Amino acid sequence: MSTIAERIKAIRATLPEGVELVAVSKFHPVEAIREAYDAGQRSFGESRIQELAEKTHALPSDINWHFIGHLQTNKVRRLIGHATLIESIDSERLLHIVDRESERAGVVSRVLMQVHVAREETKFGFSPEELLDFFRQRRFESLRATHICGLMAMASNTDDTARILDDFRRVAALRDEILAAVPDLRGFDILSMGMSDDYPLAIEAGSTHVRIGTAIFGLRDYPENLP
Ligand SMILES: *Cc1c(COP(=O)(O)O)cnc(C)c1O
Repeated sequence: MSTIAERIKAIRATLPEGVELVAVSKFHPVEAIREAYDAGQRSFGESRIQELAEKTHALPSDINWHFIGHLQTNKVRRLIGHATLIESIDSERLLHIVDRESERAGVVSRVLMQVHVAREETKFGFSPEELLDFFRQRRFESLRATHICGLMAMASNTDDTARILDDFRRVAALRDEILAAVPDLRGFDILSMGMSDDYPLAIEAGSTHVRIGTAIFGLRDYPENLP
């Protein structure tokens, strides 16, 4: 069986220059993250505030933590200042709370807008139309302490690779439409898409950040599966 270090190395070898690997460490213990860290990995993805807080305390301070889970508005304050990138802004209300709390804390938060392109009802995020309207109407201009750095998305949960690729391409096309509608938008260059099972397709569609958990750390022990 391969080690975490070997799996990271193997995945890195398949990533084109400039594509960043975010190792999704949610539900995995500090020791597993330490092993990845010792293999040179610096960006990690977490999806729960409490777990992130415990891990930031236990691990080196030069780790870039990406928050990738659904963020409840009442927990925003605990996250601000601890994440390099909040990838999962899924409503304008959440965006404004992040902005308000960032200003209050005296920091600028970097965020991605989560787009819903998957053909499942359960996924969070803006529809492409909503997001295009948001940018066309320049509603980002009211933000005071938040920098929107790009888009995050998940593809449909299916084996149909044509459909997955189509989902990813819709996100890339949306990015292009946004940039065409707002040519003066600065630093809007991240496309975070692709997970363990579909990241080669995401890269084909132009992803700049892949979020890979299982292929690095193995299967997760979700709390509901624990004794
Ligand atoms: C859990 C998670 C991942 C990683 O998924 P794997 O299939 O384990 O690679 C990526 N992105 C998000 C938003 C996630 O919640």
